[in-house]
Amino acid sequence: MKTSIIAVGTELLFGQTVNTNASFLSDKLNHMGFDVMYHFVVGDNPERLRAKIREAFADTDLILLTGGLGPTQDDLTKEIVAEEMGAELYLDEQALEDLKAFFDKRGRYMAENNLKQAYLPVGCTPLYNASGTAPGFALEKDGKIAICFPGPPREMKWLWENGARAYLEGFMDKKMFYRVIRTIGIGESDLEMLLMPLIDGQTDPTIATYAKEGECTLRVASQRDTMEEAEAAVREMTDKVTELAGEYIYSYDDEELNEVVVRILKEKHLTVASAESATAGMFASRIADVPGASEVMHSSFVTYSNESKIRNVGVPAETIEKYGVVSPETAVAMAAGARAAAGADIGVSVTGYAGPEADPGHNAGEAYIGYAFGDNTGFYAVNTSRSMRKWNRNYFMLRMLRAVYLLIK
Ligand code: AMP
Ligand code: MG
Repeated sequence: MKTSIIAVGTELLFGQTVNTNASFLSDKLNHMGFDVMYHFVVGDNPERLRAKIREAFADTDLILLTGGLGPTQDDLTKEIVAEEMGAELYLDEQALEDLKAFFDKRGRYMAENNLKQAYLPVGCTPLYNASGTAPGFALEKDGKIAICFPGPPREMKWLWENGARAYLEGFMDKKMFYRVIRTIGIGESDLEMLLMPLIDGQTDPTIATYAKEGECTLRVASQRDTMEEAEAAVREMTDKVTELAGEYIYSYDDEELNEVVVRILKEKHLTVASAESATAGMFASRIADVPGASEVMHSSFVTYSNESKIRNVGVPAETIEKYGVVSPETAVAMAAGARAAAGADIGVSVTGYAGPEADPGHNAGEAYIGYAFGDNTGFYAVNTSRSMRKWNRNYFMLRMLRAVYLLIK
């Protein structure tokens, strides 16, 4: 179904409030198989809102609106939507009760203008709001549907989960199944090239790639008459994707790389230690983000200076002198040294240039990831060709996670 989203609120036009409601709803709708075609943002102005509703309905059949359901004079979304769809407003008993209960519970006095929020368009499907004062609603007329949500993101999300989604599911003639496949170590355009034989001319299942800070995510989705058919189609396509890009895939269930790494380390009763130069502890921190990390990491080392690499993880001074501090040899020595110093099973390291500057003969984004696991020691050469410090450090950290993942998967 063709869909528009209209966010209402002057604060959005001032740039004070980011329109997160639109991205939240778009994401949800897309996953359900609705075609989101437009995002509009309009201030608290009745005539401009009316014009956008007309424009959206001219081209799309479903409009989701957020904001402007409050108790004040400038909150007009409900009134305008009702007018445009030819519905009167009535005092909804349930909404009124909810409203009174909301204020009673908080020992607060209900102002006269709050009563306005208990009015809903005749013939609507009310979306009662247990997370705030303004109920939402869905209104259908002549094949056109408008769904109104309150502006505060918490309430909007609550109504989405508790009413709106189920309401919209009723309009899906097909069942949608999708899987989010996560990859690391390959750029979006390279991944697309690799999968081109599958992407080209494919209508169902669809394959979409999204790049996100050094990682690339694939969404394989199918819409069929039954859920079983959709699932089977996605499974079949997932096998084909694995054939072409399996070496880059680390999750078929939208898991984060650090979660996957900690999970496998736990399963295999292994521990890891890092020696981190450019990332200064980001790897260790990402491991610690996962509950139960203490089972798999006892120590890690921030070894920023040459001196620290020598003293804390036993890198031979000659190695640094001979090969340089940003070198495969130093990276490997750091990884082996971290492992020994921590008494861990696996050591992993990074030495590199986060940028924007680099030493002569090198460039920002150049780094070496070292690893040591049993007799298996080695390194990955990384070169992002970027000078953005924050991006590089995050990418190096991801490559450390990937190095460990490849050792244990
Ligand atoms: P309203 O329902 O119009 O009274 O909105 C109440 C509050 O919700 C606003 O002050 C904003 O902080 C927030 N809000 C409204 N619209 C959005 C939106 N599209 N995205 C994120 N926050 C919003
Ligand atoms: Mg508002």
